[in-house]
Amino acid sequence: MKLQDKVALVTGANSGIGKAIATRFAAEGARVVVNYHSHEDDQQAAAEARSFGDESIALVGDVSNREDVQRMMGMIVERFGRLDIAVNNAGIEIKKPFLDTTPQEWERVMAVNVSGVFFVTQAAAIQMVKQGGGGKIINISSVHEDIPFSGYTSYCASKGAVRMMMRNLSIELAPHRINVNNIAPGAIATPINQAVLDDPAARAQAIEEIPWGRFGRPEEVAAVAAFLASDEAEYVTGSTYCVDGGLVRQVTKY
Ligand code: NAD
Repeated sequence: MKLQDKVALVTGANSGIGKAIATRFAAEGARVVVNYHSHEDDQQAAAEARSFGDESIALVGDVSNREDVQRMMGMIVERFGRLDIAVNNAGIEIKKPFLDTTPQEWERVMAVNVSGVFFVTQAAAIQMVKQGGGGKIINISSVHEDIPFSGYTSYCASKGAVRMMMRNLSIELAPHRINVNNIAPGAIATPINQAVLDDPAARAQAIEEIPWGRFGRPEEVAAVAAFLASDEAEYVTGSTYCVDGGLVRQVTKY
């Protein structure tokens, strides 16, 4: 098992890609902290953590709220005495023409997708430096950290910011042997894409743009996360790994 006894925090771990990563990490022997956003999901998140065994826990918290993040980190250290892996998976997107986007919508996307990554990464890295022995930070960004997506300017800007945060931190945290990498999913079948998945025409158009000819599965993102979180990735830092069926390499077909 790749992650035997490692302590891993996965944000937004009660849905989609985060849930698949938490599940894979647990299968690889990790003690998993299942972060989830809202008390509505208390029972579901607790049941998920229980399904991973006695050593995993569920913690409610809004990653865009620094106090919540500090509280969660305190509970992780109290429970496990350490943190080895942090996966910044929690994220939101708003589809809105740029000209109609409100300041509140822009700020909310930035708060969750950028400040959330900053708060969790800083709290995790402080703990990793304190305990010694290195650590792994993995951000679930998006192919839209690089390629434009009309109607999603706030989302694309937020993921671009996470790309540069990762690149900078890979240098700054290298002396502490903390690896920092991004995974850039393409179109993965999760609740964030429910509207497209439910609309046959939109779904067919999305598939048309993917060289592999289908949506990706959350487990396919989790497989790359398991590698990046493992000791095998010791010399891997500062890059983005696309899991996208070739989407970023697609050129216009007409
Ligand atoms: P999802 O909606 O199923 O999962 C998002 C998770 O983030 C949910 O558990 C949600 O509760 C949580 N979350 C939202 N705001 C939060 C907050 N403030 N604090 C804590 N948790 C919060 O969607 P998903 O597709 O699994 O998305 C996971 C990540 O993958 C996101 O960062 C998303 O941008 C990224 N991504 C997804 C795709 C895709 O096609 N599905 C593509 C590229 C990138």
